[in-house]
Order: sequence, then structure tokens, then C-alpha cells
Amino acid sequence: MKKITSRTIVCFFLALVLVAGTGVFTFKFFMEGDTWSAFSANRHLYTNNVLNTGRVLDETGKVLADYDDSDNKWHYADNIYVRKATLHAVGDSTGMIGTGALTRFADKLTGYNIITGAKPIFSNGRDLYLTLNADVCQAAFKALNGHKGTVGVYNYKTGEIICMVSAPTYDPASPPTIKDGDENYEGVYMNRLLSATFIPGSTFKLITATAALEKLDGIESRKFHCSGKTTIDGQLITCPSAHGDLTMEQALAVSCNCVFGQLATEIGSDQLNEYVKKAGLTESMSINGIQTAKSTFDFAADDKGSLAWSGIGQGKDLVNPCALMVYSGAIANGGSAAKPQIISHTALKKGVRTSLYLRHSTGELINEDTASKLASMMRNNVISNYGQSNFPGLSIGAKSGTAQSDNSDSDNAWFTGFLQDEDHPYAFVVLVEGGGSGSKVAGKVANTALQAAVKAQ
Ligand SMILES: [Zn+2]
Repeated sequence: MKKITSRTIVCFFLALVLVAGTGVFTFKFFMEGDTWSAFSANRHLYTNNVLNTGRVLDETGKVLADYDDSDNKWHYADNIYVRKATLHAVGDSTGMIGTGALTRFADKLTGYNIITGAKPIFSNGRDLYLTLNADVCQAAFKALNGHKGTVGVYNYKTGEIICMVSAPTYDPASPPTIKDGDENYEGVYMNRLLSATFIPGSTFKLITATAALEKLDGIESRKFHCSGKTTIDGQLITCPSAHGDLTMEQALAVSCNCVFGQLATEIGSDQLNEYVKKAGLTESMSINGIQTAKSTFDFAADDKGSLAWSGIGQGKDLVNPCALMVYSGAIANGGSAAKPQIISHTALKKGVRTSLYLRHSTGELINEDTASKLASMMRNNVISNYGQSNFPGLSIGAKSGTAQSDNSDSDNAWFTGFLQDEDHPYAFVVLVEGGGSGSKVAGKVANTALQAAVKAQ
């Protein structure tokens, strides 16, 4: 009897393991079946390791990549600037670009579904419409004028990424042979908007300003004085010139290091850590399944000099450009913004939609009241410092940044902000590596991209 009982228990456990194993498999099949089917060894979908079905289009229906059965090759847009500007969104057939649609969205291009698998009902292959506008990407790419860097523009109400350009880039229609250590192609396979982090320079003052508005009593009416330099805990903090007497709003407009260094020490490392987390910077975002790089910070608790440098965006701060763009969107949009997305929808070749992508919100990144104050301060930056005439017709709020560069003698130029325009609710980020001064260089690129974006819609 004892033997039978112990055998029953063993059988019971074996049955349990079988049920659990089947459960795990079924769960994984539903969750990851698309990835399994898109594996490059699947000969139904790949010829010589190249995906062999589907088309990638921009939001207007312009074809960016199309697989041709007659020569078993992918063909890209006719215009070389469009091909280069959209490389990091479209990808190339060899799969070198990790964020490219041909690699990341292979399941969408094949029309994979859970019932019939990789051989879908109705036709072979799908049309994958990206949210990008090829003309805007092309204009932004040309405006970078040969510099490395990135330009992102997105609709903070719907989440659609209109422009995503990363340079250096190359023509996927004739990929170059790139030698190890060739500086012209440094980081060429990386999508700088989504997958990289950089020293943010003075754009980080937006976060310091957010924390100061909420944590330092009477900050808006306080008067500061900048003599061009100040010493904090033995470290010399300097401004390009003496800014004199100023409020925090004026300090943001002229990007006063002395004032913002001091504010960071008053706010403290714990609070700054809390604010970068709340701002969504330290988490990775999923953009239709593509994970963005997390921003990283190291706010020194016991070294006020280093803390001051962190508060003005130098030191060890590293920020992801896309996260900064979303933060600008949240400032413009009352504290939260739509999460960015790069896929518009998929469709059968005859135009019938086969998918719907819903918009999602970031949740609150900034308190609503603080967002409204910051938005008006960023508008004031343009009016009182950057010059409205440099942005004709745009109701734009922005913050510039100039940051030390690891790879160049010249500084990296940043410009991030938003349009306050019901019909064109766009947030943007521009980084021009080795570009020099933030608002002059990156501001000009931002204007070109935004003018194209407004014209396109
Ligand atoms: Zn100053």
C-alpha cells in the first residue's frame, strides 16, 4: 500500500511537471511566436539569410524598402538622401542596424499570426507603415550637414515619431566596406536617438529647474547674482561672462552655471535622483518593442562641487536623446505625454489594414503646475535669448545645451523643446556632435526639421 501511495505521488508530480511545462510553452508560444518565426534560419521567410517578403512605407505611403521576388533583393527609396536619413528606422537587409524595421519588425512584414504562423492568410507579406515622414527626415539629415548626431521630432499627443535621423549613416543600396577604427563611421550601426546616451550639457537644467520649482520655497521670486564664477566645495564653476543680478527664469534663459550649480547643491543628491526617476529618464522605454537606452546619473552625496556640475549637466550625467524629447513633450502637454511609437499600422498590399496601434501615455512625469511654469520659461528662453526670428512662424519653447564631447575637440550642441500649436503638437531633440554652440548650431537644425514637419501636415 505504501509503495502504491509513493508511486501515486511520483506520478502526480510528473503530471504536474508536464502540465506546467505545457503551460510555459503555450505562454511563450503566444508571447514570442512572432520572434521564433522571424528567426533568420527560417527558410520560408529568408533567402540566404535575407528576409524575403514585405514592404516598408512612410506615413504618406512613400515606399522606403520593397522586396523584389524577381531579383531576390530589397530595393530602397529612389532618393539617396531619403535612404540615408531613414537607414536607422528601415534597416538594411543584412541586419546590421539593430533598430531597423527589416530586423525588428520582420514578423510584421511577413504577416505572422498565431493560427497560420509565418504563412499568413491572404497574400505573402505585409505593408508596414512607419509613422515617419520621409521628407522631414531628409530635411533634418541635410541640416546636420555632415556632422554626427541625431534629430528626433514626435507628436506628444499621439506618440507618432515623425523624424528619426541618426548620423553617421550610409546608403543601404550600396553598403560601404567599413574598416575597424574608421572615424567617419564611428557608431554607424547605432541609432543615436534610441540606443545611445550623451552628456546632456545645459539641457539638464530643465530637470534641476523642475526640482527647484517644487522643492525650494520662494524660488520664483528669489534674486541671484552671477559674477561669472563661483567656488563650490573647492570646485570652480564658471559662466562665459558675468550675468549679474537675475531670477531663476532669467538664469535659465542665459543658462547661468553659477546659479544652477548652487541650486543643485540646495536641492541635494537624493531629490535629484528622485526627479530624474520621475522624469522617466532612468527607465528604458519600449518603442513598439525596441528598448531605448537608460539615462544614467551619479549625484555625489558628499561632494557639493561634483553635485553642482551634475546639476548643470556636466560631470557624469549621461542622457538618452529620446527620453529628453519625451520630457520636453510632457512639459508642453501638462506633465505627461504620449509614448513614442514608430509603427503606424500594417496593411495587406491592397490597402486593407491588418493592425491597429493604440496610443499610450507616459503617466505623470512632471506635476501639471510645474510643467506649465517650465513651458513658459522655455518660451521665454526663445524670446529673450535664442531669438524668435530664428524660428519664423513657430510658437516654440526650447532649451539649448553645449556639452563636452568625448570624441571631438569641439563641443556637442543640443537643442530640445516643443511647439505649442494645436495642429502641430511636436516635441523635438537635436544633437550635433562637435557642432559647437547649442542654440546657434542645433537650434538651426531644429528649425529646419520643424519647418518641414509643419509643412508636411
Ligand atoms: Zn552666470
